[in-house]
Amino acid sequence: MARETFEPAYLTLLRSGELRQRVQIAAERVRSCDLCGRACQVDRYEQLGSCRTGTQAVVSSYGPHLVVDIYMPDVKYADAETAYRYSRVRDYVAVNRAAVKEMHRQVGDLTLDERSIALRGLLVRHLVLPEGLAGTAEAARFLAEEVSPNTYVNVMDQYRPC
Ligand code: SF4
Repeated sequence: MARETFEPAYLTLLRSGELRQRVQIAAERVRSCDLCGRACQVDRYEQLGSCRTGTQAVVSSYGPHLVVDIYMPDVKYADAETAYRYSRVRDYVAVNRAAVKEMHRQVGDLTLDERSIALRGLLVRHLVLPEGLAGTAEAARFLAEEVSPNTYVNVMDQYRPC
């Protein structure tokens, strides 16, 4: 894909007015919030859910990314019991997999420009854990068979117990 002709999808949405509509829909959805897999169903105008974020998220840093239309999700576990035991998250695998599939539906496999710099697509991060707890082989099977065999994966080895 040539960088000169590339346009991030959010600019297309902005121009068409679709982005404004989606903002309005999201602003209503937080009245019974189900914007992530925790589905707290709280009214974020009145109280906080698990994420402790009200109606205004706090932006910790920002800068121009002229490089990108990319989703970079984690795939941390391949087993729901393990996810609950170590991260206290229910339904992690089902919610995570549905999200990764939806991201891929929107942007497809990672595409690069003429200098091999990523422009658009899905780039999955997977942290390998001791004793096979991250389910690395199963996570790889899921990505290859249920998302795309061309999925780019950043396999991270920096886990250390603190
Ligand atoms: S954790 Fe936050 S974003 Fe997720 S459903 Fe609960 S209130 Fe909504």
